[in-house]
Amino acid sequence: MSSRESPLVAPHPSPGGEARRLSNYVGGNWRTSADRWLEDVDPASGEVTAMVPLSGAVDVDVAVAAARAAQPGWRAVAPQRRARAVMALREALWGHRDEIARLVTEDMGKTLDDARGEVLRGIESTEAACAIPHLLKGEGLEGVATGVDVDLVRQPVGVVAAITPFNFPAMIPLWFLPFAIACGNTFVLKPSERDPRPSERIFELINEIDEIPAGVCNLLHGAHDAVNGLLDHPEVDAISFVGRATTARHVSERSAATGKRCQALGGAKNSLVVMPDADLAKAVPAIMGSAFGAAGQRCLAGSVAVLVGDQARQDEVRDALTAAAAELRVGSGAAEGTDVCPLVSPEARERIVDALDRAEAADVEMVADGRGVDPGPAGTMLGPTIVEALNPEAEVAREELFGPLLTLVRVADLDRALEFVNGSRYGNAGSVFTSSGEAARRYRYGVEAGMIGVNVGVAAPVAWFPFSGWKDSLDGDLHANGRDAVEFYTRKKVVTSRWQ
Ligand code: NAD
Repeated sequence: MSSRESPLVAPHPSPGGEARRLSNYVGGNWRTSADRWLEDVDPASGEVTAMVPLSGAVDVDVAVAAARAAQPGWRAVAPQRRARAVMALREALWGHRDEIARLVTEDMGKTLDDARGEVLRGIESTEAACAIPHLLKGEGLEGVATGVDVDLVRQPVGVVAAITPFNFPAMIPLWFLPFAIACGNTFVLKPSERDPRPSERIFELINEIDEIPAGVCNLLHGAHDAVNGLLDHPEVDAISFVGRATTARHVSERSAATGKRCQALGGAKNSLVVMPDADLAKAVPAIMGSAFGAAGQRCLAGSVAVLVGDQARQDEVRDALTAAAAELRVGSGAAEGTDVCPLVSPEARERIVDALDRAEAADVEMVADGRGVDPGPAGTMLGPTIVEALNPEAEVAREELFGPLLTLVRVADLDRALEFVNGSRYGNAGSVFTSSGEAARRYRYGVEAGMIGVNVGVAAPVAWFPFSGWKDSLDGDLHANGRDAVEFYTRKKVVTSRWQ
């Protein structure tokens, strides 16, 4: 145990007791000056599991000052030693992976299996960042003029803040933190105010890692005020953001006003193209997982199935999807055998039900209606829903609704499928299901998206590759993870030297 403070209160709420108040973790200490609080609610049971401080300007200043003060010292730590610190974090995460997964399920609602997969993905980002001495190496060119050599070195950008969404409360903070600190930056995380306990647990582990000095990693709870405070703060040099497209645009525009480097990963409306030669025995389960896993609350969720071919084949695919959806079990993420977990909040359910009501009145034929499922104690359950869009420009076919809703669109051939897919404002992800190499290649060549799958339902790149989309799914340039993370978290300096 380091000499830094332990959390001010017990790390987990006593059952039935008053909900525990979370604290920020700043400069190695647990503290908050917030006078406004938000309930952290278990989406399955509706129980309040913690109270989240809504940090304001003072807390933002304190967190950024701690990160700024720690940065010169941390930058001076040799890259191999910073790598060792990240390895220590990796070991701590690995040792507590089940516990963090359980917190993900309690806070966000997804199934335990899904939460375990999420934590593993976060651990993989941490593992990828352990290669930092290699990834940071520069390049050089000798003899560009008599006695003149040119060298490129990478230096940290300074203080980095990450602002993250509710749907991956453990993995997405871990896309950013390990790479940012491995590159020599110091870090402030503002997790989603809806499910901050996995982040809190990760910071409790960081607090015990002596190789990560106080002030290198800071945790700032809160909502819009905390975000805007970070975006406006002159001492924050770079912002990594993940969330809805409208928030991403706000974040990139506002951070540009103070000249910050920004990567803002936004929303999605991903299509799954089912070719006439697709193997349905494999494609249908993959589409079920993609559309209804985590109740559709993934940026990689396939929310439109584009059925290619003649009417008989399209009907066959529609029937197979409908039959498979009828088998899915809706329930608490903590319950054994649940396929479709609750939505994050009753408001999220209401928003999707409203969209379905609107669509039913105008643009769609209802194929499988999940609105009849008992909303449960928290009012958050919605059954898997399939609609067929009579108008391919309908809201359910074009807008991100972030729920267990699959929209079917029929097209005659791959060209028309690509036309439909590329007509989206988003370009996050997508997949094709086919047994034809030629069709797969044409799809891969022509589709406008940053992450695509061939016979894969959720085309999530592993951490050694960049993760992000195109178009309105990304404001900025560099993606998360992989080499892009190193590009984003470093500045290039080119040294031209004459020694003769
Ligand atoms: P969100 O945009 O509501 O919130 C994300 C973060 O921004 C939170 O920390 C929140 O506190 C903050 N925020 C929200 N509104 C704000 C405002 N007006 N001003 C300042 N700060 C604000 O997103 P969410 O609902 O938590 O997450 C779901 C969204 O994230 C979906 O759109 C999903 O597609 C997207 N997402 C994208 C990716 C990706 O890789 N592109 C990955 C995961 C999630």
